[in-house]
Amino acid sequence: MIWTNYHGHCKYCDGNFAPEEYAKRAIDKDFLAYGFSSHSPLPFDNAWSMKEDSIQNYLQEIELLKGRYHTKIEIYTGLEADYIEGLSSPSKLKSKYNLDYVIGSVHYAGVYPDGTRWEIDGDTRGFQTGLRTIYGNNIKKCISTYYRLIRDMIEMHTPDIVGHLDKIKIHNIDNVYFSEFDRWYQNEVISTLKSIKANGCILEVNTRGIYTRKNWQTYPSRWILEKAYELKIPVTLTSDAHHPEEINMAFERSAAMLNDVGYRRMTILWQGKWQNVPFDQKGLKIDVSNKDTKLAS
Ligand SMILES: [Zn+2]
Ligand SMILES: [Zn+2]
Repeated sequence: MIWTNYHGHCKYCDGNFAPEEYAKRAIDKDFLAYGFSSHSPLPFDNAWSMKEDSIQNYLQEIELLKGRYHTKIEIYTGLEADYIEGLSSPSKLKSKYNLDYVIGSVHYAGVYPDGTRWEIDGDTRGFQTGLRTIYGNNIKKCISTYYRLIRDMIEMHTPDIVGHLDKIKIHNIDNVYFSEFDRWYQNEVISTLKSIKANGCILEVNTRGIYTRKNWQTYPSRWILEKAYELKIPVTLTSDAHHPEEINMAFERSAAMLNDVGYRRMTILWQGKWQNVPFDQKGLKIDVSNKDTKLAS
């Protein structure tokens, strides 16, 4: 089965292994292309971002892999760039480090009175504390801020790919905080989709919640993908891999779901440009002889 994946972490951030281990696994699995997207460095400490002084080694190591394996796979250099108002901009990081692409993600959606940033996808207790302290337990205000930040990112710091659009649902198990069918929630999501469309971004369909058993659906949920399909928003399937085993986890069922929604093509970075390629649950429908012609040199 031929796949691609542009959302992958490694030892430079919170992944488990050297970049080469992911590249080798991608070759074993007949991937057409693999993109590295470590968490971008931030001007404060956290448990998962790359350290600022590691980034040159990260870039060099991936550059070496591009050359070492160029007859077998296309390797791309990216970052999962945080958007934090005034502190971290996906588009600026892309040009600063001359990246092939950037995934823009919002992981922080508030600030505690002492200046500490609040992570929306940390542990449950941290989520509850932030919701209470920063938003007075007003979930609507919290979620609206989250989606407003994503729209600000898309409109002013435009990334190539919008990362895990509805990740804030991670703590909403059994709809404890809200229902995705609430009108106000759907309005926030739909206006964010319109912003994605207007700014020419690709929406990622991220399988990590499924195989880590945190969610039964992709990020974003199926109903959001149905709206995205109506709006003709391009999608790309990613796994947000942290371990080499995870590079195509839950891809088959998620590709089947996307076909069921109506999507027949996904957008991949191949031969140096974003292209719309047909797919089904068995992978990308690309003529392998063509692939070999291109990749053999
Ligand atoms: Zn993320
Ligand atoms: Zn990630």
